[in-house]
Amino acid sequence: MAIDAPELIWHNGELKPWQDANVHVMAHGLHYGSSVFEGIRCYETPDGPAFFRLGDHLKRLANSAKLYRIESPWPMDEIEHACHAVTAANGLDSAYLRPIIYRGYGSLGVAPSADLPVEAAIAAMKWGAYLGEEGLAHGVDVCVSSWQRVAPNTIPAGAKAGGNYLSGQLVSMEAKGLGFHEGIGLGTDGLLSEGGGENLFLVSEGKLYTPPAAASILSGITRDTLITLAEHAGLEVIEQGLPREMLYFCDEAFFTGTAAEVTPIRSVDRRPVGDGTRGPITHMLQDAFFGLFDGRTRDDWGWLEPLRADAAEGVMPQLRLVN
Ligand code: PMP
Repeated sequence: MAIDAPELIWHNGELKPWQDANVHVMAHGLHYGSSVFEGIRCYETPDGPAFFRLGDHLKRLANSAKLYRIESPWPMDEIEHACHAVTAANGLDSAYLRPIIYRGYGSLGVAPSADLPVEAAIAAMKWGAYLGEEGLAHGVDVCVSSWQRVAPNTIPAGAKAGGNYLSGQLVSMEAKGLGFHEGIGLGTDGLLSEGGGENLFLVSEGKLYTPPAAASILSGITRDTLITLAEHAGLEVIEQGLPREMLYFCDEAFFTGTAAEVTPIRSVDRRPVGDGTRGPITHMLQDAFFGLFDGRTRDDWGWLEPLRADAAEGVMPQLRLVN
């Protein structure tokens, strides 16, 4: 899906025209995958636009940067402010935000030299359902990938770094090439891990199962949301190592992610999951999730952060409007 480019983007402390946010082709991040990023949604709610779990996303961004010793010149409260500013400046009521902190241009070695700059950008744009509106209602067809996920203590799956997405690309490209919507990766132990860009949940005999943090997954914020909503609804949620065959035995399955939201899985390896449609527990959890944004589910957890509409109005000296 082509990017629906807005007018402005935040780049290295400034709001500037979208097409002017450039990097040099010799940037370290481009050659070695040394970038950390987030995907965040801002939803249109009855009380106006609101970010979903912005603080939790920025905490994960800070953790990813800490792991790779990428020291952001912009502290997280400035990044947080800039998320508001770039969304407000583009007049967006709902948006997908992509903050990224990356090693820039300066030296060639793999180990970054002390003088290698760290840069940052935040794009805010329109982005619909990642696996399609049709997928949200009727479910998607997936396969188990022939590519395994990264092993523990290799490239840590728990950090959201650019380089990790080489694994996701192999999984997703293979699946799409075979006519599926998405692929599921197994860990190097052969147990279930996650989708190319989503966490995985299974429903069996009324209980919810999901692979644990140690299963080479990114611990998704939507995953945590669904666990919370499910427990709130009285469901038992079990985080444990899951064998591949549970994909074929389960009654329902779904993906979660900021981009994918809550997307039912209707078949795995051409075998129907349950009766091959969105299952009742998936439907109930989907309703609870989307209800957070249209007011049907009370936000008891303080997950929604209203967009500060005046955020772009030069509150910070760094946020100069460049023409
Ligand atoms: N796993 C991977 C590999 C992802 O890229 C994503 C999307 N960020 C997720 C899981 C889901 O994470 P979240 O719910 O925080 O978006």
